[in-house]
Amino acid sequence: MIYLDNAATTPVDKEVLEAVMPFFKENFGNPQSQHCAGRAAANAVISARDEIAGIIGCKPEEVYFVSGGTEAGNTAVKGVCAAHGKGHMIVSSIEHPAVLESAKQMTKFGFEVTFVKPDVNGIIHAEAIEKAVKKNTFFCAVMAANNEVGTVQPVKDIGKICKDNGIFYYCDCVQSAGVLPFPTDYCDALALSAHKFYGPKGIGALYIKNGSRVEGLISGGMQERGLRGGTLNAAAVIGLAEALKRTARDSERNNAYIGGLRDYFLNKVLTEIEGTRLNGDKERRVPSNANISFEGCEGQNILFLLDLNGIAVSTGSACSAGAVTPSHVLTAMGFTEERVKSAVRFTFGKYNTFEEADVTVEALKRCVAKIRNK
Ligand code: PLP
Repeated sequence: MIYLDNAATTPVDKEVLEAVMPFFKENFGNPQSQHCAGRAAANAVISARDEIAGIIGCKPEEVYFVSGGTEAGNTAVKGVCAAHGKGHMIVSSIEHPAVLESAKQMTKFGFEVTFVKPDVNGIIHAEAIEKAVKKNTFFCAVMAANNEVGTVQPVKDIGKICKDNGIFYYCDCVQSAGVLPFPTDYCDALALSAHKFYGPKGIGALYIKNGSRVEGLISGGMQERGLRGGTLNAAAVIGLAEALKRTARDSERNNAYIGGLRDYFLNKVLTEIEGTRLNGDKERRVPSNANISFEGCEGQNILFLLDLNGIAVSTGSACSAGAVTPSHVLTAMGFTEERVKSAVRFTFGKYNTFEEADVTVEALKRCVAKIRNK
């Protein structure tokens, strides 16, 4: 298989797996337990938290382990709403559904939300955020890098506006972790998810600045300082720390390699296949992402034909109850329905090769010709 869907998830690194395994076997203790088995697990979790905090640039007690980006987004939106009780929120319209749907849900409880659109290149401008600020705005969510088009957002400028106006700023860093520096100094909360950088699924970290007003969503024991009840998955926490350490350490090298590979592929597609267009800003994007529209084709059909050729890619369309909903990101960017529906997302990772890029371009040529000639 040629796997070009690294924004969806990545394989677990061998070293990460090796670090995790003892916590399923001999070190299986519950980190809450007071005996030696519990202490062994608890100590490993403490070291993992310290390590993650060091990489994010925060205090260990500001790191909360959660199940991933979805839970982090839910906790940020709903937890801050619960602590504030009423008021107005600003949410970019290209956020992940974890944030968008949580914000929409909050309107049922009387909260007001302004959804701020990106420009045609998929960038949310700080000025647009500033314009949306009201006297009672208490929350803002703009992600660091978009998952569909890979565009990098001006988080520093947005953070400054939020700080000046006393607004809690949540920055979803699920797609930027290990790629861009963490915007810890400019936001009040940020999220990362291990399976996006060669760690296990179902584990992530939510940074929340000390002194922030956030209610937890999961009541139970006093795990995670009362914010999130439930026995910690120590093995997954260890895996997250190991994967983050590796991705932070290798960031420069991986960015250069993956960016070079993506540019090679993109250039070939745009020059060798007619009627193709890149979606999202050419420069301000993460190195892994190439989101391309293919005139006269449905992205879904390209996906299926590539899959038959053993090549895994994605479209931004959501599939629910058998119906395909066009990408909310490309739609927000103001594209025609035709361009939105003809988009395919290729996301490269550190294990992809230039040969795979060549094979994919050739397969694309055949698939696109087949669809267009129908
Ligand atoms: N936020 C962004 C930007 C994402 O890309 C994703 C996953 O694709 C999520 C949140 C959800 O993360 P998880 O899969 O860890 O729940």
